[in-house]
Amino acid sequence: MQPSVLVVEDEEAISTLLSYNLEKEGFRVSVTADGDEAMIMVKEKRPDVLVLDWMLPGLSGIEICRRLRKDNDFKNIPIIMLSARSEEDDRIRGLDSGADDYLVKPFSPTELVARIRAVFRRIRPALSEESLTFCDLWMDLSGHKVTRSGHDVHLGPTEFRLLRYLMENPGRVFSREQLLDAVWGHDIYVELRTVDVHIRRLRKALDYDDKQPDLIRTVRSAGYALEPPDTIL
Ligand code: CA
Repeated sequence: MQPSVLVVEDEEAISTLLSYNLEKEGFRVSVTADGDEAMIMVKEKRPDVLVLDWMLPGLSGIEICRRLRKDNDFKNIPIIMLSARSEEDDRIRGLDSGADDYLVKPFSPTELVARIRAVFRRIRPALSEESLTFCDLWMDLSGHKVTRSGHDVHLGPTEFRLLRYLMENPGRVFSREQLLDAVWGHDIYVELRTVDVHIRRLRKALDYDDKQPDLIRTVRSAGYALEPPDTIL
């Protein structure tokens, strides 16, 4: 899964340039020119990072930033603010409102890509690495390989994506709906209990000799989380 970026920018020349360059760098890109629509798209698409222009039709970039930071579901989404202004006051206001970084126009797409990667490294290290680790699990992202305590673990493509998502967000409890959106995608209709079926397969594959402690916690009526074995009761 490539990281996804939502670009919120009302100057078409800039958003076209940014989406071209971000796609070339391997990001999945969505674009909107409108602040109100941006709020809806963030909730629907759950992008990995938001590139947010300051002055927009509808809600302003600052207001979007403030609202997301107050929203439990989105308060950790990385946000890079764009602005045509260069005053120091605005920079501080942008960072005060909860942006992770700030770019003043004009800037080069290369600069933006570098900032996005830096924000990822800081906030979600998993997205910028070639491999993921959790307890005795190791996942090679490019080679699609998983080992546990050095033993190969064979996973189907869905279990691989499911485990990857959990390893990118260790300790976080996800509802079945959230896992469906993240792993299967928004546009596919899948029954909720499909998630349980694949979690069961994943658990079985990870417990390769029937002795491995469970790393996936079932949170009653809430969902699932990846946790170290000693915290699972
Ligand atoms: Ca603008």
